[in-house]
Amino acid sequence: MTLLFLIYGLITGSFLNVLVFRLPLGENIAFPSSRCNECGKRLKPAHLIPVVSYMYLKGKCGYCGKRISPQYPIVELANGILYALIYLRFGWSAQSVVFAIAASLFIVIGILDFRYQDIFNVTIWFGLFLSALYLAYQQVNHGKAAENILSGAAGFGLIALVIIITRGGMGWGDAWLLLIIGMLLGPQLTAFAFFIASIAGGMVGTYLLVSRKMGRRDSVPFGPFLILGFYVALLIGKEAVGAYLSAF
Ligand SMILES: [Zn+2]
Repeated sequence: MTLLFLIYGLITGSFLNVLVFRLPLGENIAFPSSRCNECGKRLKPAHLIPVVSYMYLKGKCGYCGKRISPQYPIVELANGILYALIYLRFGWSAQSVVFAIAASLFIVIGILDFRYQDIFNVTIWFGLFLSALYLAYQQVNHGKAAENILSGAAGFGLIALVIIITRGGMGWGDAWLLLIIGMLLGPQLTAFAFFIASIAGGMVGTYLLVSRKMGRRDSVPFGPFLILGFYVALLIGKEAVGAYLSAF
């Protein structure tokens, strides 16, 4: 069953690649079918097998020989591994389905934010819809949606405060993103995700400043770090928070 989740994740991953390339261009995401970005030739079904076809074609287009971005197999593999880990953690459950969809959405948001320093509205709307659906399910089955809504609102407020104080250290996209993460994860795991994001973002930012790859006025997009925090909190957050709390 884990293998099935892995394979399903790989296949979904190749759709994510299409989204990442077509969303910023405002292109139709279902049509036309996959083509080589260089020569425009339609890809054969055999070229669409995730990861395997990239390795078989040695990272080049089967028609014109142009290099294909390694982003394709990396996204497919990352999505497949996340699906497998989510299954191992949450089993065959509604949670697994929601978290797998969220994991995929966050791959798209993370790459787009990294590339364009922007979190696209359509991805935010989808995330809000998904988390609202999840909370409705949680409320009906366990009656505990309120604390998740509060953690999302607190996360949104925290980043809004940072935006107002630093005048642009973070963006409103980050605030919406943490709202979604808060609604999905609840108070403890959201705090943990934010903690991981801040540490990772701080380390990378310091490295870029010290190595002079970035000036003082440049900013690093925070979205990818929030997303890293989400993955870590989702997969090992409960144990980490538990160990931390029992240490006191
Ligand atoms: Zn080509």
